[in-house]
Amino acid sequence: MIRAIAKTFKGGIHPPGHKTPTSSKAIETLPLPARVVIPLQQHIGRISEAIVEIGERVLRGQPLSKPMGPVSVSSHASLSGTVKAIESFPHPLGQVVPAVVIESDGLDEPYLDYACDEKYLSFSPEEMKNRIADAGITGMGGATFPTHVKLMPPEDKPIDTVILNGAECEPYLTSDHRLMLESPQDILKGLRVIMKVLGVKKGYIAIENNKPDAIAVFSNLLKNDPEVQVCTLKVKYPQGAEKQLIYAATKRRVPAGKLPMEVGCVVQNVGTAKAIYEAVACHKPLIERVVTVTGAVRNPKNLLVRIGTPLRELIEYCGGFSEDPGKVIMGGPMMGIAQFTLDVPIIKGSSGVVVLSRDEIRDVEPQECISCAQCVDVCPMNLMPTLIVSYVENGRWDLAKEAGIMNCMECGSCAFVCPAGRNVMHLMRFGKFMIQELEKAEKK
Ligand code: SF4
Ligand code: SF4
Repeated sequence: MIRAIAKTFKGGIHPPGHKTPTSSKAIETLPLPARVVIPLQQHIGRISEAIVEIGERVLRGQPLSKPMGPVSVSSHASLSGTVKAIESFPHPLGQVVPAVVIESDGLDEPYLDYACDEKYLSFSPEEMKNRIADAGITGMGGATFPTHVKLMPPEDKPIDTVILNGAECEPYLTSDHRLMLESPQDILKGLRVIMKVLGVKKGYIAIENNKPDAIAVFSNLLKNDPEVQVCTLKVKYPQGAEKQLIYAATKRRVPAGKLPMEVGCVVQNVGTAKAIYEAVACHKPLIERVVTVTGAVRNPKNLLVRIGTPLRELIEYCGGFSEDPGKVIMGGPMMGIAQFTLDVPIIKGSSGVVVLSRDEIRDVEPQECISCAQCVDVCPMNLMPTLIVSYVENGRWDLAKEAGIMNCMECGSCAFVCPAGRNVMHLMRFGKFMIQELEKAEKK
C-alpha cells in the first residue's frame, strides 16, 4: 500500500495528545436540559437583536433574534418552551452578553418539519447562501465567524480551493474525529454545497495522521472522486490553524494580516460542513453540536448537546469531577478559555470542555528570559516573541506593532516551550489589546 506523505508547516509544537479517553467513544446525545441560555452573540461581529418576548412560547429551531448588519447571525431556540428572561448572562468567551433564557416544556416541538430535500444541489448558490445565513451558522472550530460571510468573497478574490479542517490539533478534543467517523457522508455533502456556492472544483479534507480510521473512511468514500482529496497532515500543533493548514495542503502562504481568500482558499471546519448540509437540504438551524467532555471527569465522553445547555449539566452527565478541578476550559487547553462559572452555556463554537486537575496546572513563578530563542523556533507565524514581549513590557506599542504583534494568532506555542515559565502568549495578547484600544481612542 502506498502511504500518502503527511504534510505540515514550519514551527509548532508536540504537546501530549490526551485523546485516548474519548477517541473511541461514540457520540452520545445529552438528555434535554430543563433550561437553556441562548446568547444573542455567539459569533464574531455585531450582536443580534431579540425578536421574542418574555412569556412567549417558542419552538425548537425558531429564530430568537435577527442579525444586526452584514457580519451578524441570528440565534435560535434549541428546544421548545417558554421565554423566562432576556437578560445579560456570563458567556464562555469571558464577557457578559444578552441572552434568551428558555424553560423547556419537555415536548421538544419543532418550528418546522426539517425534512431533507435531497435535490439540494440543484438550488442556486444564492438560495444556498440564504439558507446558511437563515440557519445562523458560524465556524464551529472555535473561530465563530459567520459562515455565509465567508462564502461571499469579493469579486477580485476568486476562490479555487476549499479545505475542510479535520485536523483537530488541540490536545484532548475528539469531537471532530467522532463526527468524521459517524457522519462522513453529511460532511461531504456540506463540502459539495460550499464548492457549488463558490464555484470551486478543488476540495480537500485535511486530517492529522493520528486519526487513521477517519483518513481510511474518507479515502474510501473519495476513491473515485476527481475533485476532492484527503490531505494527510503530520501531528503537530497548531496544524489546524487556517494559515498553517492552507500551507500544508497547497503550499500557498497567506500574507501577514491577510485572509485565506488572498490565496484563493476558503477553510471550513468539518462540523460546520455538516451544519451547512443540514441548513441547505433540511432548513435546519444550528441548535446543537458535538462537544468532547474530558480530563478530570469520571466518564469522559463525546456528547451531542443543545446550544445553551449549561456547562454544569455536561460535567454532571459525565459523572462529575474525578479530582479537585484546577481549571475548567471551554475549548482545548492551548487556545480555549478558562471558565469562572459552570453556569456558562455551550455555544456554537464550543468544541470541548476540558477539566484540568490542580496537579496539571503549571504554577511556576516566571523567571527572567534566558534568550534561548525556543519561542522563536516554534512560532508558526515566524515572529520573534521574546523581542516583541520586551517591547510590550516597556510599553513600546509602536515597536511591538512594527515587529508584527498583530499577526500573533495566540496559539500559545511560545509559552508552552519557554523554559523560564514566562507567559509569553498572555503578554502578546495584552499587547494586541492595548494597541487596539489606543487605535480606537485615536480614531475617536
Ligand atoms: S502565541 Fe503568537 S507569538 Fe506565540 S507562538 Fe503563537 S503566534 Fe507565535
Ligand atoms: S523561550 Fe522564554 S526564555 Fe527562551 S527566549 Fe523565549 S521568552 Fe526567553
